[in-house]
Amino acid sequence: MQMRIRVSLGSAVVLGLARAKMEDKPSTCYLLMAGDCRGDCGFCPQARSSRSDHKWLSRITWPTFAVTDLLRPERAELLRDSFARICIQTVVSPRRADQLQELVRLIRQTPGLGDIPISSSILPESTEEVGRLLAAGVERIGIPLDAANPWIFHQTKNGDYSRVYQLIKEAAMAYPGKISTHVIIGLGETEADAARVLQDFWSAGVRVGLFAFTPVPGTRLAKLPPPPLGQYRRIQVLNYLLATGLPMELTFSPDGRIRDFGYSRSELEGLLSAGTAFRTSGCPGCNRPYYNERPGQTMYNYPRPLTTLEIEKAFAELEL
Ligand code: SF4
Repeated sequence: MQMRIRVSLGSAVVLGLARAKMEDKPSTCYLLMAGDCRGDCGFCPQARSSRSDHKWLSRITWPTFAVTDLLRPERAELLRDSFARICIQTVVSPRRADQLQELVRLIRQTPGLGDIPISSSILPESTEEVGRLLAAGVERIGIPLDAANPWIFHQTKNGDYSRVYQLIKEAAMAYPGKISTHVIIGLGETEADAARVLQDFWSAGVRVGLFAFTPVPGTRLAKLPPPPLGQYRRIQVLNYLLATGLPMELTFSPDGRIRDFGYSRSELEGLLSAGTAFRTSGCPGCNRPYYNERPGQTMYNYPRPLTTLEIEKAFAELEL
């Protein structure tokens, strides 16, 4: 049977598979392996209990195409020239690793795509499975933790926090420089919770991609509001300082809000002057336009370099 794949609308537009107006183009080609997810994350339209259409993930749509159509020679050339990486998102299904391996094999044997970096967001069964996927041609594995404390994990996902946490760290130890994770801000964790998890992951060599919680109609958490912008900006700065290896001395208010990074206002302004801290974080080349935001509205993650005005605005939004 012919393999089919969901392609994010933005990626599909770049590849000439769909038409839509776009303010910012994706710099990674985002693919989603369709299927029935056994997971039940309260924020995800692919979840078992979700009443959303499965063409949604976060707040964007993912039309379906035949893989042969995606990888035909002229489109493969466009894919190679337009994107820094391919990201394959998977759902929790029993055959996800086999299907991923098959898709990676098809991509790798396509002329021009033999060495394009491929990331995959997957919950693997074990560290050994991570090894098999890397050997099959995946360049980075993103194992999503999503929730920044065990209680929130238990409330929003149907899994075992400690098992996923350990798996991420074990995989990072076994395959240094190859492991990423996703952390969603705004599920009810404190900034101190997020700081603990981010510091631990970065010191174990795990790259952290931040997401702002986005309520999607039809999901269990459809009524939870997105996080306050100030909270998100402070965690972005924290993630940036950790990613760049800059030292910091964090202090928190009694309710776990970051009060201080251990820098004076002008020192911090200098460190953040390029605006990189406020751009999308994750694997190299990943910009995820409009996963968490509507065009023209609050920009949690900027998918492109910020203007001087936007940098000043983002700095003010830190509310320090
Ligand atoms: S950080 Fe971006 S490229 Fe990496 S796994 Fe997550 S969505 Fe994919």
